[in-house]
Amino acid sequence: MKDQYGREIDYLRISITDRCNLRCQYCMPDGIQHLSHRDVLRYEELLRVCQIATTLGITKFKVTGGEPLVRKGCVDFVRDLKVLQDVEQVTLTTNGMLLEEHVDALVQAGIDGINISLDTLDDDIYSRLTGAPPQATAIVRRAAAECVKSGIRTKINAVLLPETLDSVADLAALAENLAMDVRFIEFMPVGTETGDSPITAARVLQLLRLRWDDLHPANEYRGNGPAIYYQSDKLKGRIGFISAMSHKFCDTCNRIRLTSTGELKSCLCFEGVNDLREQLRGGATDEEIELVLKDCIINKPCAHRFGERGAGTEGRSMHEIGG
Ligand code: SAM
Ligand code: SF4
Repeated sequence: MKDQYGREIDYLRISITDRCNLRCQYCMPDGIQHLSHRDVLRYEELLRVCQIATTLGITKFKVTGGEPLVRKGCVDFVRDLKVLQDVEQVTLTTNGMLLEEHVDALVQAGIDGINISLDTLDDDIYSRLTGAPPQATAIVRRAAAECVKSGIRTKINAVLLPETLDSVADLAALAENLAMDVRFIEFMPVGTETGDSPITAARVLQLLRLRWDDLHPANEYRGNGPAIYYQSDKLKGRIGFISAMSHKFCDTCNRIRLTSTGELKSCLCFEGVNDLREQLRGGATDEEIELVLKDCIINKPCAHRFGERGAGTEGRSMHEIGG
């Protein structure tokens, strides 16, 4: 279905939990309070929303969180979602800490791709940023290698931060030996007061060209997102950039989001306005749920306004709304 600006919305990101086994500084501020289990949508409720969403042309789904793999039944949910009528693609975003043990089951469940968040290979910085135990990057790297070996389309996602700038080339070098993409994402001030992105994709590209001087645009479309890809003869995978701040791509945005409590969000930057949980638990018909989804799509804002805080601006951090 198209929104009021003519953008085709065919992609839903579903947050299945606000909980996480890491504490990334930019995502989970200190002192957060977790939701109670009954506030979070049950898998049956999520599947119902997804099935109704397909009738509006939403056929691609991303399972996210918090950390989706900390919720019991996540892999079964992937399997159940994958076999719903008209579902074309189900992918997962994870921090990778619990991934290795689930790779086989995810393949069996029919997963179409996995994005693994890893901001740096420097263990000290990684632990400081995420609260992970020492030497944890090896756990994530092993999981990533296992995914590639199992034939899963695998991407590493790194948020660009001042602390990790010196190690971007080492991280990108993961694409030298493994056929997976490494993508750098400009930090978005979700739920914070800061405006501009401190590190731009352009700056990182410059740094990477010091190591791979033949890096050039790949001019290809890979996946559902707005990433721009570069390639080098020395890299098996691509290097991607998601420049949400320095180069807004809102005119091609194809997605809406569902938080773990059943709030529909049409844009990361703004507060959610459609509460599906009340509908789901209040006996709404499929047609009524469909109307809520349609309303969310139709009223999708034309563009984000990060940097101009005002009424309606999202004040919660990423773990609550599903990155
Ligand atoms: N726990 C999973 C993970 O880390 O992949 C899934 C949820 S996490 C919120 C999804 C993605 O959002 C991660 O790649 C994370 O780095 C990213 N993220 C969190 N806060 C962000 C921010 N302020 N700007 C850009 N990306 C952010
Ligand atoms: Fe957890 Fe992912 Fe947020 Fe890090 S980015 S705290 S891994 S939800």
